[in-house]
Amino acid sequence: MELIGHMKNNMNSISIKILLSLSIGIFLLSCEPNKKPVEKTVVESLPNIVTPAFSGDSSYKYVQDQVAFGPRVPNTKAHKECGDFLGKFFMKNGGFLTRQEFTAKAFDGTELKLKNLIISYNHKAAKRILLAAHWDTRPFADQDKANPKEPSDGANDGGSGVAVLMELARAINAAEKKPDVGFDIILFDGEDYGQPMFYPGPYQEDSWCLGSQHWANHKHNVNYRAYYGVLLDMVGAKNATFAREGVSMSYAPSIVNNVWATAERLGYGNHFIRVDSDPITDDHAYINKLAMIPMIDIIEYEMSDGNYFGSYWHTHDDNINVIDKNTLKAVGQTLIELLYREKL
Ligand SMILES: [Zn+2]
Repeated sequence: MELIGHMKNNMNSISIKILLSLSIGIFLLSCEPNKKPVEKTVVESLPNIVTPAFSGDSSYKYVQDQVAFGPRVPNTKAHKECGDFLGKFFMKNGGFLTRQEFTAKAFDGTELKLKNLIISYNHKAAKRILLAAHWDTRPFADQDKANPKEPSDGANDGGSGVAVLMELARAINAAEKKPDVGFDIILFDGEDYGQPMFYPGPYQEDSWCLGSQHWANHKHNVNYRAYYGVLLDMVGAKNATFAREGVSMSYAPSIVNNVWATAERLGYGNHFIRVDSDPITDDHAYINKLAMIPMIDIIEYEMSDGNYFGSYWHTHDDNINVIDKNTLKAVGQTLIELLYREKL
């Protein structure tokens, strides 16, 4: 994933500010003087529900399992083997698997053999939630000074999102009571094959997120619709914070608010912070734009270094040592709560 240009972002925020001041003006004009507004307090009382417990330990193990294959770089043995392993895992855990195999051209002309894995649960339910992560590893650790042309383990970037969805699937499949809504997990391929800085030649649009672009243009079921989607990317680092990312806030602010409020209720407000962050080109951008499904991104935002991403990002430090089971649990339990609270 990459940060969308600052220029564009500034323009967006300017136009949002103009819109806001216009609407405040209209509101003031339409108010009658000396009339006190009626205050309404809506107290949200949620019924108690029992949800399956998400295990941080087993999710951590699923990161290890992926890392053990080696970097899951497209066109490699590790990629193929891990793809087979993931497919089998979800089938064993109650999912209906569709393998979407396709060829895509990388920024340097390489033909990539890619495979999106789509796993459906409760396929009869018309109302569906889409959960996604990318399962490929970036072919180069191009933010690292040492060996920038070699891939990292991709423990957090790729591995963590998949591991959360694996444990979510296991926990729900093992539970007696299932969510009322249907849900689909899509593991996108080729997300992280974007053009690196060291590649000579002009900047190429759309070199990232190859799997989500392909799926958005060729859905596994032409009539597929989801009520909304949640993408996970880099959701396993110790003390990770997730901000309200720009693309998510422009396309699906109410989903962001619902997810953040749900996390806070569960006691995970230390991870899901009420801070707005710049827009990111990640799989959710194409799902919003091309597939017209409102989708948000839960992606780590590191406030301290001004780089958006954590210091391990696209370096060889992205290994199992950055992963913390408490962060995986915070994200996974929040998603389970969302699914079980969603009404038909
Ligand atoms: Zn990445």
